[in-house]
Amino acid sequence: MARPSAFDRLHPKQERTLVLVKPDGVKRGLVGEAIRRFEQRGLKLIALKMVAPGQPYFHDHYPKEQAWIFRLGEKTLSAFQKYGLDAKKMLGTDDPKKIGPKVRDWILEYMTSGPVVAIVIEGIHAIDMVRKITGPTLPNMAEMGSFRGDFSVDSPTLANLDKRAIHNLIHASENAAEARHEIKHWFTKAELHDYKRAEEDVMF
Ligand code: GDP
Ligand code: MG
Repeated sequence: MARPSAFDRLHPKQERTLVLVKPDGVKRGLVGEAIRRFEQRGLKLIALKMVAPGQPYFHDHYPKEQAWIFRLGEKTLSAFQKYGLDAKKMLGTDDPKKIGPKVRDWILEYMTSGPVVAIVIEGIHAIDMVRKITGPTLPNMAEMGSFRGDFSVDSPTLANLDKRAIHNLIHASENAAEARHEIKHWFTKAELHDYKRAEEDVMF
């Protein structure tokens, strides 16, 4: 078994996840609202900055594994099929292996269309809690009450027609491996702060 990293040795209350308020979220003035919702739930911000790195930086942020790119291609293809769009006609292929890299390029264009706000959030089950508060990937499927459900209206039909990524306001790590990679990618150890929230003794 691999030796646990310092990250794995953290107390469960210190599970960490990375959030990016995407360029559409920043331009719509939703940074404060996003932070409010995370803080209100009892999650702790331990790092925060506004940055506008270029496409190579986002190329290294998003997974490069074939499995992830294939899944992205499959998700996109299923949205084409669900809404009666012809992927072959519109993208020149209906092969998820070829669609995946195209969507990945669309994501890089979207993420560099303005500054993003990068945040590390810490707390019990922080990864799942933040995903829940954020809502599912597709705004048209996101429940009211979730961030994407309350503030975004984009759909895969529109995005795929326009050959661009779905505008869904926030990125949030999906699992521990993603969180570990992403936090290291965006922040140095010295930028991760250690402090106690006033309610901690009562909440846990
Ligand atoms: P997330 O973890 O919920 O952000 O979703 P993914 O990691 O699967 O996808 C990354 C980003 O790609 C999403 O946030 C969207 O901006 C975009 N995206 C995902 N699926 C699709 C799709 O089917 N079509 C298009 N055009 N963009 C997509
Ligand atoms: Mg993701």
